[in-house]
Amino acid sequence: MSNNFKGIAASNGVAIAKAYLLVDPDLSFTKTTITDVTAEQARVDDASKAASADVKIIKSRAEKNLGADEAQVFEAHLMVLSDPEMSGAFNQKIADDKVNAEQAVKEVTDMYIGMFEAMTDNAYMQERAADIRDVTKRILSHLLNVALPNPALIDEEVVLVSKDLTPSDTSQLDRQFVKGILTDLGGRTAHASIMARTLEIPAVVGSEVATQTITAGVTVIVDGLTGDVIVDPDAETLATYQQKAADYLAQRAEWALLKDQQSVSADGKNFVLGANIGSPKDMDAVLENGSEGVGLYRTEFLYMESDHLPTEDEQFEAYKAVVEKMAGKPVTVRTMDIGGDKNLSYWKLPEEENPFLGYRAIRISLDQTEIFRTQLRALLRASAYGNLWIMFPMIATLGEFRAAKKVYLEERAKLEEAGVSMGEIKLGIMIEIPAAAVLADKFAKEVDFFSIGTNDLIGYTMAADRGNDKVAYLYQPYNPSILRLINNVIAAAHNEGKFVAMCGEMAGDPIAVPVLMGMGLDEFSMSAPSVLQTRSLMKKLDTVDMKSLAEKALDAETNEEVIALVEAATK
Ligand code: PEP
Ligand code: MG
Repeated sequence: MSNNFKGIAASNGVAIAKAYLLVDPDLSFTKTTITDVTAEQARVDDASKAASADVKIIKSRAEKNLGADEAQVFEAHLMVLSDPEMSGAFNQKIADDKVNAEQAVKEVTDMYIGMFEAMTDNAYMQERAADIRDVTKRILSHLLNVALPNPALIDEEVVLVSKDLTPSDTSQLDRQFVKGILTDLGGRTAHASIMARTLEIPAVVGSEVATQTITAGVTVIVDGLTGDVIVDPDAETLATYQQKAADYLAQRAEWALLKDQQSVSADGKNFVLGANIGSPKDMDAVLENGSEGVGLYRTEFLYMESDHLPTEDEQFEAYKAVVEKMAGKPVTVRTMDIGGDKNLSYWKLPEEENPFLGYRAIRISLDQTEIFRTQLRALLRASAYGNLWIMFPMIATLGEFRAAKKVYLEERAKLEEAGVSMGEIKLGIMIEIPAAAVLADKFAKEVDFFSIGTNDLIGYTMAADRGNDKVAYLYQPYNPSILRLINNVIAAAHNEGKFVAMCGEMAGDPIAVPVLMGMGLDEFSMSAPSVLQTRSLMKKLDTVDMKSLAEKALDAETNEEVIALVEAATK
């Protein structure tokens, strides 16, 4: 019987490699009473030493692959492992309570974690809690003799198979070895999928069955173009997919010829094709793919990849590096969008029933203004080195925009007074909450530009979590309800002579692009590897025809009807 299955195609390309299962192992154990205290203490000691040896290897790998800063977190783990107070507490617990080593480790570390986590306004202590949690897992794995998977230790080509991937897992992947990604959960616009596209790693997500079906080491084919997954292929299937992988690479090589060309329609109308980034490291791909700007810099990744709130200078260096690399082309930096699926290990946000509708993004920035002011100062200083625009995420009301702008103007005035040189900055908002899309005419009078965040806009309009594969069918970018909201935003911006971009994944979607061209969207910003494919598509389309396509699409009834209209108009 075939073990093949299908998931959601989340990042283009075809990967063929052995499966590497990134699944949390079972670290459960039973509490026992022991008699030989010394032997039990020696077990903890050995396990701690073995854990230290693991962390040292991971640290040196991380230094090589990711750089010294990102390897810093492992230094903290080593410090926990060599802390005499902690090891003393393990020994004491075993001696006093006559419990097995596993139980002693758990009780002692739980106590420390609880203590540190209780210090909710101390980010440093929260970081320590996260470190101890990691280290505990590692010691227990040695005590129980269970291997702990670690993507940082992968040193051969693999397809990574996991239940889910967090954005921070994804940011640690080494694309030299991780050739494909396959998950049980997740949707196309979940951040891990977006990052897979940026890293150009073929991915299939939301398959529901990957971790149950696949055993470690078996050969897997991940077709990120269709969502098909083939397990343990026969020779013929293997050859077919090897050809498909080669064809895809040949197609990319053809698109690459457009690198230095303009993004222009068949009838000569210019558009801006931007790229979305999460870190200055993504800039190589932005330049290689001939992007005409950075339409979205997701700065929260700077916060997520650090083990502390990034300082003003750390942020300044990152923003400066990006604007300098773009050499005068616009860079739209979004202020941090923490919350939802983007969490910080060192700063626990309050537990919420609905984090995607909760305390996140601009809501945090307007509440914790010192964090916001630090970021704005770093941005203002970096603006002297290029063409920097700032936008605020998750704006729902005019009041929020006005409040954010007020803080921005205050920081700008202070820096001006101090004689700091700054560039002219355009100030805009993400349109990703339906309330802002509906009221776009009012917002358009006050902002310099809009950037439509369709990942969230579609999620909130359809009331469907973007990371939940069970409701992935409701991610309907061509549904006329969504198209009408987008059209309203574009028209409202143009009515006030304002620029309107789109930085959600829809901007690089070949079905959506013709309709958006017809609506007159100014900038399309997407994962860098999609830029040249989109440029190639735009060259073939006439905006007069696309305008009538857009009119028909706005009058259609369903997502499917619009797909058929686009196919008919572009074939
Ligand atoms: C969006 O919501 O469309 C967007 C671009 O922001 P993010 O994907 O980071 O939420
Ligand atoms: Mg968003």
